[in-house]
Amino acid sequence: MSNSDIDIARAAKPLAIKKIGENLDIPWEVLSPFGHSKAKINLDFINSLQDKPNGKLILVTAISPTPAGEGKTTTTVGLGDALNYIGKKAAICLREPSLGPCFGMKGGAAGGGYAQVIPMEDINLHFTGDFHAITSAHNLLAALIDNHIHWGNELHIDARRVTWKRVMDMNDRALRNIVSSLGGAANGYPREDGFDITVASEVMAILCLATSLEDLRKRLGNIIIGVNRQKQPVRARDLQADGAMAALLKDALQPNLVQTLENNPAFIHGGPFANIAHGCNSVMATKTALKLADYVVTEAGFGADLGAEKFFDIKCRKAKLSPAAAVIVATVRALKMNGGIAFTEVGQENVEAVKKGCANLARHIRNVKSFGVPVVVGINRFNTDTDAELAAIRESAAAYGVEAIVCTHWSDGGKGAEQLAHKVVALAESGASQFAPLYDDSLSLWQKVRTIATQLYGADDIIADKKVRAEFARFEEEGFGHLPVCIAKTQYSFSTDPQLRGAPSGHMVGIRELRLAAGAEFVVVICGDIMTMPGLPRLPAANQIGINAQGQIEGLF
Ligand code: ADP
Ligand code: MG
Repeated sequence: MSNSDIDIARAAKPLAIKKIGENLDIPWEVLSPFGHSKAKINLDFINSLQDKPNGKLILVTAISPTPAGEGKTTTTVGLGDALNYIGKKAAICLREPSLGPCFGMKGGAAGGGYAQVIPMEDINLHFTGDFHAITSAHNLLAALIDNHIHWGNELHIDARRVTWKRVMDMNDRALRNIVSSLGGAANGYPREDGFDITVASEVMAILCLATSLEDLRKRLGNIIIGVNRQKQPVRARDLQADGAMAALLKDALQPNLVQTLENNPAFIHGGPFANIAHGCNSVMATKTALKLADYVVTEAGFGADLGAEKFFDIKCRKAKLSPAAAVIVATVRALKMNGGIAFTEVGQENVEAVKKGCANLARHIRNVKSFGVPVVVGINRFNTDTDAELAAIRESAAAYGVEAIVCTHWSDGGKGAEQLAHKVVALAESGASQFAPLYDDSLSLWQKVRTIATQLYGADDIIADKKVRAEFARFEEEGFGHLPVCIAKTQYSFSTDPQLRGAPSGHMVGIRELRLAAGAEFVVVICGDIMTMPGLPRLPAANQIGINAQGQIEGLF
């Protein structure tokens, strides 16, 4: 198959968004169309659905990622199409792509091959403007902070300890650390400042966890921007920023409806980072989809140790969602890398390496099962995979009592994941799910992190120096001990060492820093180097993107 993602997407025959809405019983009046193929769904309509029963929620997660790629989004789309193909009423829920990776290395995030959401150019670029609104709301608060200091600083904000940075939806290392307010008295008080990428903004996490406009405003008000001279937290509410921020986000809170290549409904809404945030699409979108469809397939970022854990322990806990089944996406290529093979050699048959890499798959299977959720492995087939390699994965999974099903949705669309869809339906309808988060709210923050590290990562224990342990104690004293933890560590390993692939155990997880996301309502636990403003690679994807003579966008993938 030689067609690029964008060629396939362009050849698709989209239905009018009105029709996609009708198929889910969404009246035309409650959709706000953005052109012909995108729409936002009105919040009053969403409220009116509250008494309807929920469909079954299916999580798509994956083995530990490698540069070889796993295809979680592609599989989410493929499974959604497959469920519709076998006659089920299914919708998918995905995150909105960020411009950073789109112009950087990874490319877009609208699926791939014959399992994509469309219009992929719009979805990958400006879409319905949600990220712009989030960027504006975030930067409004930043502007209000410096303005407050400029006009006398009644709150005695300690300008040296402002933790609220600026954001932009771009990979731009030049802005990581800056000095703001240069140029004289009229421009305020110079201070060290910096930019994060928009998807790392707490406003993004808040939008994705908020359950209503009131809840959104309350959470925005709770944001802590830094401390005053007495080292007491200063909140966005103290700056009277929450009302205007909520006003900027009023439309962004409405979920976006689009479609797959096979004209099935897709909710694409919100896109928080999967390291310093929880990495799932919005609660608003997921809850809405569950009211309108019998099956809702959604994706969590990174491997299951990070993505699924946060999906279960943060999103499902907070939004009281109960997933019915999970699909762990595995690829022959990524398993080979987890088995110790270099990226340059993943195209050559190596059954032994696949078998060795299956230790990684086994750990993820065990982990997801420990949340009480039944599991199936979806093997996302690449054309270099051999039958012997695929058989090796099936055997390994079977040893853990789990079926592994080869899927070809990337090349065949929904019918390529038909078997997976049947299995997912069987698991979801079996009533086998006994979902429960991994830890209790009442556990201390330290014990929560320890539980995740020892039970999911295979670590012996967690360690932190005195300064960090004091932070744990301070957050407990200040009344944040009941919050869930959001672990930021490398996605490439169960440990904090990205080179340690497979299924390492016996390691120590070192904690470097804690950050309180008082509005999003979780405590970020940073283990290792976490980049909140990525840079572009030597050859950015942006270099290949352009517009052809017909005015069409080229080079997006
Ligand atoms: P993830 O969501 O896990 O980050 P994506 O679904 O976005 O991964 O896929 C990453 C890239 O890999 C996309 O460009 C997609 O087209 C490509 N891809 C996914 N599955 C396959 C496959 N079976 N064969 C070839 N390329 C694939
Ligand atoms: Mg993805």
